[in-house]
Formats: sequence, C-alpha cells, structure tokens
Amino acid sequence: MTNFTKTCPAHLSMLHDENAIAQLFESPSSKPRLLIVDDQPINIQVMYQIFAGQYQVFMATKGAQAIDFCRRTPPDLILLDVVMPEMDGFEVCSALKADPATRDIPIIFVTAHTESAQETRGIEAGAVDFITKPVNPAVVRARVKAQLTLKFQSDLMRKLVFLDGLTSVFNRRYFDQQLAIEMARAIRAHTPMALIMLDVDFFKRYNDHYSHQTGDDCLRQVAHTLKESLRRPADLVARYGGEEFVCILPDTAFADALNIAAELEANVRLKAMPHADSSVASVVTVSLGVAGFSGQWPAQASALLALADAQLYAAKHAGRARACGAELTP
Ligand code: GH3
Ligand code: MG
Ligand code: MG
Repeated sequence: MTNFTKTCPAHLSMLHDENAIAQLFESPSSKPRLLIVDDQPINIQVMYQIFAGQYQVFMATKGAQAIDFCRRTPPDLILLDVVMPEMDGFEVCSALKADPATRDIPIIFVTAHTESAQETRGIEAGAVDFITKPVNPAVVRARVKAQLTLKFQSDLMRKLVFLDGLTSVFNRRYFDQQLAIEMARAIRAHTPMALIMLDVDFFKRYNDHYSHQTGDDCLRQVAHTLKESLRRPADLVARYGGEEFVCILPDTAFADALNIAAELEANVRLKAMPHADSSVASVVTVSLGVAGFSGQWPAQASALLALADAQLYAAKHAGRARACGAELTP
C-alpha cells in the first residue's frame, strides 16, 4: 500500500447523508475524503478495509507527511494515531489547529491507550473524538459518519455566509480570505497560481437598454458560465462587486491561466445573450485581466489583485472582449 494513494472502490455503495451533503460542495461523484495517519501499516490496513468502500481514503505514516498533505489538499476528516515516532499525534493535531487552512478539519484520535488523562489531552488539542484500538468497525464507522455530517453542516453554514445573493457564487469577503490562503499556500509549496479579474463590457448600456432585471439575469448567466467553465475543484469564482467577477486558479501556470481566460471570454460570448447597444459585438462580452504568480518568492495578495486590475484595464483599452495578462515580478 502506497502512502497518499487515492483508492478507487470497485463497487458503488449507497448514498449516505454525508455523501449527499458532500455533493453540495463538489462534483456529484465526489466522496468524502478521509486521511488515516498511523506509523504502523497494519493499522492503516485495518482502517482502510473499514472505509474504502464508502470514502476516498488517503494514508500517511508520519506526522509531517500528514500535515503537508492537509495543507495541499485538505481531507474532510482525519483519523490520527497518538503514538508515533518523530512527531506524535498531539503535535500533529496542534499544528493543524494552528493553521487557518487546516483548522476546521475534524480530527479523531485512535489509540491503544485508554487513560482519561490522554483523552483529555486529545480533546484539549482540538480533537472531536477519541477511539480505542483494536477498533470495532461498526463503532468507528458510526463515529466517523456522525463527525462528517457535522463537518459538512458547518461547512454549509459557513459557505452560505460567503455566497453572493444575486449570483450564488462566492462573495467578496470569501474571495479576500481565500486569496490570502492560496497565496500563502503557493509561496509555501513554491507552486504557481493565477488570478483572473473579469468585467462585463458596456453593462451600463445593457441595463439602460434591456432593464435592470434583465441585467441581473445576465450577471447570473455570466456567473454560471464561469463556474461551469472552471472544472478543477480548487478553482474559485467570486463576485467582486457590480458586474465584476474574479477567479482564483491555484496550482496553475501563467500560460495555462491565459488559455483559461481566453476560454472564459469565448464561453460567455457563446451564450449569445443579445446586446444591441454594445460597440464590440452584438452579444454580451467580457474583458479579462490575468495576473500570474510563480510562488517562488513572498508576495502580497494586494499586489496580485492590483496587477489583475491593471490588466483588465489594459484589455478594456485594447478594445474589450479579450484578455490581457502579466506575471507578478518581485
Ligand atoms: P465597461 O465596458 O467599460 O466596463 O463599461 P460598463 O458600462 O460595463 O461599466 P460601468 O462601470 O460604467 O457600469 C457598470 C454598470 O453595472 C453600472 C451599474 O448600474 C451596473 N451594475 C452594477 N451592479 C449591478 C447589479 O447587481 N445588477 C445590475 N443589473 N446592474 C448592475
Ligand atoms: Mg465595472
Ligand atoms: Mg463593465
């Protein structure tokens, strides 16, 4: 068994509550992601057999490895061994709880020791539950299911606070938070990322010509087009304000981001929403500014945002219905 191997169960299991809730967040086929951390492969094997049919199961045999995995691709729940060499479960738990990007992942400790002092220490470190080895499959399954349901419910609540009322994409508040998190992640992992800022062309005229209600419908359609065009689960679309939208593309090279921006421009145009008063086309078009960041040096989110905005301005000036882009330099 390889660490971090994503497992693909051979059979389809029935949908359970937490799966149904998980679908609100990701693609319909996605299953909750479980990370099992234990220095003994045999223990991982036991847990794997309990969960593989129902969840996507990932594994780590070292604390540092688990933390790294969680930062890159946060799982929905962690089953964490307490006694491990190098970094023990309590240390791993504290590190995850101290990082805004990983602190909301529920952690269940799994241990052979049953002293209440240890249990107290685990709960104080931020764990939500404590399970003793050897595990009873039915019990561990029920506890994981209960914690996942809670987790998805609180994710949903948090998410509703961060949604734009008109278009149902994320709002500005959430975008600001996520941009900071994604930039920190890019810098830590030395991976590139990109930001796209997009503005509907001649939208004031659109409202004046077709009515403000039709303008609202147009914004919903644009938001929907952006969402359906960005296929990677980590990509994020938000309404920045008025008729402006932003997309965060983690782990994306600048050249790829330019291609994506061109695709977004084309996809909005292909929706063929009539715009009789536009000076660039007979349909609704958008202009886009792309800002790329290599992740190789520490940069501020505000700098990336300013660059995307400047590139959007350049696209407007170059004639609209197009994308312009540049890479952030130190
Ligand atoms: P440009 O091509 O340079 O972007 O021109 P524009 O007309 O799109 O830009 P401008 O900033 O002059 O106008 C933006 C318009 O967007 C004006 C405002 O009434 C409209 N708008 C902003 N928010 C909403 C909204 O929620 N619904 C509707 N229907 N219109 C909105
Ligand atoms: Mg505007
Ligand atoms: Mg505009």
